[in-house]
Amino acid sequence: MQILGCKLDPIDADAATAAIFGFVREKAGAQIVTLGTEMVVYAQNDRRFRDVVNACALSLCDTVGLLTVARKRGATLTQRVTGVELIEHLCARAAAEGASVYLFGAAEGVAAEAAAALQARYPGLRVAGTRSGFFRPDESAAIADAIRASGADLLFVGLGSPRQEFWLAEHLKTAGAGAGIGVGGSFDVIAGRVERAPEAWRKLNLEWLYRLVKEPKRWRRQLALPRFVWLIASERRAENSKGSVS
Ligand code: UDP
Repeated sequence: MQILGCKLDPIDADAATAAIFGFVREKAGAQIVTLGTEMVVYAQNDRRFRDVVNACALSLCDTVGLLTVARKRGATLTQRVTGVELIEHLCARAAAEGASVYLFGAAEGVAAEAAAALQARYPGLRVAGTRSGFFRPDESAAIADAIRASGADLLFVGLGSPRQEFWLAEHLKTAGAGAGIGVGGSFDVIAGRVERAPEAWRKLNLEWLYRLVKEPKRWRRQLALPRFVWLIASERRAENSKGSVS
């Protein structure tokens, strides 16, 4: 489906994992986006970003705002698919099938710590490599070459949005992985550098509030939510008035 001009595939983590392993088998070089509400808002004013999202092989529903709209439009998905959850599902299957993963992003050492935590959790998981996400633009080609040389099947890129989506759109083919997935700040969470909201807050869909309390500087980004609600309401008004004319 399309939400405010952005592609969304409202499927759960199990279905996404199955589809992504299909891409790995085909060595498709498929880009996957974990779409968030603020990304959809950002896409309204950046056509190039919207085109990148719409060209992705899969666009997964990462936030409650998008989930709510998707369900109103008929999707049966009941839970969002976060980057952390997707990484866990994919690593469980990668360990079972012998596929290898590459973690690219976050501050120095964090991707390696996240990889170690994943290997502890999924014994036998093959980590093809890790690299921090702070680099000069002219280093991108060498980074993509190094990923190709590592032979990684799955590439997780955690540079934050929109940087990770643009990086994958430009360099995934060179990097050579069967699938490249933008995962935001997931490595920080998996490495235990950032705690997720307690279960009770998550059940109440209040993870955003917990993060706001913990990291008040995020308030500016969270302004995207009221803007998203307003944009969706405007879209509906426009559709209703079209319906009443015809
Ligand atoms: N980051 C990076 N390179 C940069 C800027 C950010 O690797 O040049 C990392 C940062 O360390 C963090 C992630 O990108 O791990 C962004 O996390 P955030 O929670 O802001 O992103 P979101 O998940 O909300 O897109």
